[in-house]
Amino acid sequence: MLFALFCAEASAQTAQGFQDWIRSFWPTARAQGITAQTYNAAFAGAQFDSSVIKRATNQPEFVKPIWSYMDGAVSDLRIKNGQEMRRKYASLLAKLEQSYGVDRHVLLAIWGMETAYGSIFSNKALIKPTIQSLAMLAYADPQRGEFGRTQLIAALKILQNGDITPSGMVGSWAGAMGHTQFIPTTFLSKAVDFDGDGHRDIWNSIPDALASSANLLKEAGWESGKTWGYEVTLPGNFAFELADGNVTKTLADWQALGAKRVHGRSFPRPEDRAQLIMPAGYRGPAFLILKNFSVIKRYNNATSYALAIGHLADRIRGGGGFAHEWPRSDRMLTRSEREEVQTILNRLGYDTGGVDGRLGSKSRAAIRHWQKKSGLVPDGFASGDLLEALRKRG
Ligand code: CA
Repeated sequence: MLFALFCAEASAQTAQGFQDWIRSFWPTARAQGITAQTYNAAFAGAQFDSSVIKRATNQPEFVKPIWSYMDGAVSDLRIKNGQEMRRKYASLLAKLEQSYGVDRHVLLAIWGMETAYGSIFSNKALIKPTIQSLAMLAYADPQRGEFGRTQLIAALKILQNGDITPSGMVGSWAGAMGHTQFIPTTFLSKAVDFDGDGHRDIWNSIPDALASSANLLKEAGWESGKTWGYEVTLPGNFAFELADGNVTKTLADWQALGAKRVHGRSFPRPEDRAQLIMPAGYRGPAFLILKNFSVIKRYNNATSYALAIGHLADRIRGGGGFAHEWPRSDRMLTRSEREEVQTILNRLGYDTGGVDGRLGSKSRAAIRHWQKKSGLVPDGFASGDLLEALRKRG
């Protein structure tokens, strides 16, 4: 029943239409140097898969608060399993540090976040044939069609190179592949054959998978021997509008403004340049983030992701939790409430970069300006309290 409803909504996308699309895409692939043999083998088992489109078009009304995301990402089990992998792959990790200069704990954290150290491959419901998923996106998703076509060509090239067989090329519904969840274009430019068997195999070779992640981070500018950032404490009278992630100062300058590293520690290199972020507003933890934080974001361009990787790496190394608690009692806004925040701000003359329910840097800057003008702490964080205040005073 659900399936039938979905098909009706998806305006005449059918199994037959999908097969027709596969045939129609052949000249495009051939023009990119793909042989008929590669193409036919790649699509031999490809079937219409409505779940891909369902996932692609799902826009949740509720956004998970960052503390829920962090709880799941940096769980006790994931820390423990990461420590077990550190023992199991100690000699490989030492070689990778030597070759790429990337901290082994960060590599373990990425592996743990992306595929739970490879354990997701036993969950057949999550694992999909990459060619089929990308072809479904190219065929049926108006938003990701271009992405699907580009990645599909790259995936066909990987098959033609012989790095993996069509049945072995598996990953997420969105086309991220193998232990480290590379999309095909990233694979073509960054994957490496570290075990020396002539194939770049991020699906079955842990050395190839972890080396490919290390290579990506190294090429993105990883600074060897340095961390991702530091949790800090800020004084009550701090200029919170500086904590927008865009203001860059040296750690020494941040310190002069009142930022202190937690647990009475000092910064090992006060000359390092950093930005300040407060992902849950002024009532939550604050972090000074360094160059390597932005390098991690090349893997996945989300602040919460980079924070989870950095923190999971620290925890696998043996470090403790954050010194400050998240403001867990804050109510998160629904999508329509986030749109309301933007609408009110627009009415007050602020530019929020549109009314789309996504509170990006423009929206957060607008919130900060309004908070400052209204005598509130200008942290740019959109909680239930902020919406109430906007409704009353806006
Ligand atoms: Ca290999």
